[in-house]
Amino acid sequence: MSTEDTPKDYSESPINLEYFYTAGSATTRFLNQVKEGNIVGQGCPKCKAVYVPPRGSCPRCGVATDIEVPLTDKGCIESFTVVHIPIPGNPIVPPYVCAMIRLDGANISFLHLIQDVDIENIRIGMRIQAVWKPKEEWTHSLENIKWFAPIDEPDVDVATLRFQES
Ligand SMILES: [Zn+2]
Repeated sequence: MSTEDTPKDYSESPINLEYFYTAGSATTRFLNQVKEGNIVGQGCPKCKAVYVPPRGSCPRCGVATDIEVPLTDKGCIESFTVVHIPIPGNPIVPPYVCAMIRLDGANISFLHLIQDVDIENIRIGMRIQAVWKPKEEWTHSLENIKWFAPIDEPDVDVATLRFQES
């Protein structure tokens, strides 16, 4: 049997897509702050939930989240997964960890990388902080943060992160 007759489990089909992302006013305000190294969530005036990244309205209350809420770049790991499959164009060699990051003072989390720690030591509730790229590389993107890395603080009890009705 020649190599050409060998059954394949998969095939690679590279696809390149070019697209333009048009940020709305809420995301524009957020990304303008990110370019300056600031993470500013937006709060709901009714239920007080803080969204980061913000989308401009509170899905619970249906009102504009027009309260600017400066946050730090510290938080905890809400959940995570170990990535074992390489992603074309991604320079990070598997296995690596992607985690849902809940910043202190925020009510939702966002996806980012965890580095500077052995994978087997990563856990839900672990305290982490952003590791930023050099300032001269900052753009309007959360990719200004290279990854999040553990800090020497006690773990958070994730049950305490549940949204509390006010
Ligand atoms: Zn609300």
